[in-house]
Amino acid sequence: MADREIIIGIDLGTTNSLVAFMSGDAPAVIPGEDGVNLVPSVVALDEKNQIIVGNAARKYLIETPDRAVYSIKRLMGRGVDDVQEELKLFPFQLADDLQPGEVVRIRLGEKTFTPPEISAFILRQLKRNAERFFGAPVTKAVITVPAYFNDAQRQATKDAGRIAGLDVLRLVNEPTAASLAYGLDKKENGIVAVYDLGGGTFDVSILKLHDGIFEVIATNGDTHLGGDDIDNLLIRIALDDIRGDLGLDVSRNGEAVATIRKAVIEAKIALSSQESIKLDIDLPGDKRYRREITREQFEQLIQPIIDRTVGPCKQALKDAGLKPEQIDEVVLVGGSTRIPKVRALVKDLFQREPHIDLNPDEVVALGAAVQANILSGGSTATENMLLLDVTPLSLGIEVAGGVTDKIILRNSTIPASASQHYTTQVDGQTNVAIHVLQGERELAKDCRSLARFDLKGIPPMAAGMPRIEVKFLIDANGILQVSAREQRSGKQAEIEVQPSYGLTDEQVEGMILDSFDNAEEDFRQRQVIEAGNEADTILAALEKGKKSPAWGELTTEEKKTIARLEKMLVEVKTGNDYQAIRKSIDELNQATIRLAELMMDSAVTTALKGQNMDESNADEGPTAPHPMAKAEFK
Ligand code: ADP
Ligand code: MG
Repeated sequence: MADREIIIGIDLGTTNSLVAFMSGDAPAVIPGEDGVNLVPSVVALDEKNQIIVGNAARKYLIETPDRAVYSIKRLMGRGVDDVQEELKLFPFQLADDLQPGEVVRIRLGEKTFTPPEISAFILRQLKRNAERFFGAPVTKAVITVPAYFNDAQRQATKDAGRIAGLDVLRLVNEPTAASLAYGLDKKENGIVAVYDLGGGTFDVSILKLHDGIFEVIATNGDTHLGGDDIDNLLIRIALDDIRGDLGLDVSRNGEAVATIRKAVIEAKIALSSQESIKLDIDLPGDKRYRREITREQFEQLIQPIIDRTVGPCKQALKDAGLKPEQIDEVVLVGGSTRIPKVRALVKDLFQREPHIDLNPDEVVALGAAVQANILSGGSTATENMLLLDVTPLSLGIEVAGGVTDKIILRNSTIPASASQHYTTQVDGQTNVAIHVLQGERELAKDCRSLARFDLKGIPPMAAGMPRIEVKFLIDANGILQVSAREQRSGKQAEIEVQPSYGLTDEQVEGMILDSFDNAEEDFRQRQVIEAGNEADTILAALEKGKKSPAWGELTTEEKKTIARLEKMLVEVKTGNDYQAIRKSIDELNQATIRLAELMMDSAVTTALKGQNMDESNADEGPTAPHPMAKAEFK
């Protein structure tokens, strides 16, 4: 691990986020301090204005909802005008002073944060989990994004990484990552369908594998469909029952609704592995709501919800020009695909038994770790593998008459580049305005405006004479660069598309310093504490060793060295240079190897003499100072 740089793989999800790494030949998820792999994508600001992330932040959603936020992924890379739809469905609290065309800011208590900053808090938590696990700073990552994410959303994800102090080496599409986790790249050829039903979103992607190379050939989905819909349905049914059977209306009692939500989610999850479940919920006024739900009833209830995934799947197949029987592999992604009925539906749709060996809510992070390993040069089998993805919407420019001229078509594989030639409309025209657009609509005003720039200084020529080449280049991360060049004069202008609703470099810089400095300081402090603890352990063990008969067998020279190193460790331990403490621990460990061996020998001899070794150990305490393996941070 030490000789090769650690690159982590991150699934930054709408509902849950995870971090994984390559452990030998197989990817593995890194658990949080609580031992749990999934970090809920929830961020809250506590009373002391400290940021809380994950499970611990959940209670704020109920207790102080104005200080908590979830599903922030929905707002990534989007402007005020973009998010009106989301605001109807989610309790996002925007800052009061937002201007149209500005990056949205979310209010938590008295503070406001941009979506990349909120996502950065989640990323920083994952980074810390990884750092605790490795006992070393982690600064490089691969992060996954939905295949349909546009340029602005991808850029915002990269910004979030930077703000969290992570160098984002690559953004990988989620379905591509899932396929990688299953090692489908080892197959030579084939078509893979990835069905991803998470908490709040549904995505389906069709990938083509040729000679071990992935190409996303179509994507579709529904940005408001997932496990949340099932939860809400079950809550509604419970509320109706409670009103009908118990004559109690608790629909406006936040705490009661939260209790019901928790209970029905547990029931839903249990029904994925059990045939029936008994709901038993305590309600205000000493009332109880009891009901048994069988899997059959549950399946009937959710049928209309899961049926909504059928249309997008058919559309994706159609876009890819494929029939279901042409699909070779089906990959399940997202916690909601644990539901047996969903699996049956997928099998039916694609006429294939889906892969289910990996946890569907972990598979994207695992694939991100595989990609990270490829980038770190750690993989041999997949060394030459190039990952291709598609651009979800067409990209082009506005031409005369307000018409969109597409340059890169939707569902084109990336990295991609394409160019078109244009000319001037007016005699002597020296400037040309390039308006970069994204979308399928004919008129520029109906497409999304990504950027504008001018090509200036064209020598005056008759209209139609200049030959202007406009070139679009999308890199492997899906980030767009546009250049325009007048070929007769060589005049050139270009722009890396700063998405209309992106943060400026300065803004990102400003945000980084804050959280990055803190993260470094936090890391250092943790290291000092942990090294200090380790030093205490070895010093205490040495005290024991000095009282053992083995001590008498050491030479004067050995004892002197140990005494010198012991004194040194006691000294550096009081400072806060964790590297010095570690070095000193290592030296003392080295110097006491023979003492440890002698103590071991005498313990064994004692045991052989008929004494119980456990007992002798019990007297002596652990047989330290054994040369300690380097401290593990788990
Ligand atoms: P996302 O990709 O949206 O961040 P996940 O893939 O983690 O989300 O999926 C979360 C959803 O999966 C939640 O709605 C959760 O309730 C649901 N889920 C998790 N486990 C199960 C299960 N065993 N049965 C049914 N639904 C489940
Ligand atoms: Mg997901």
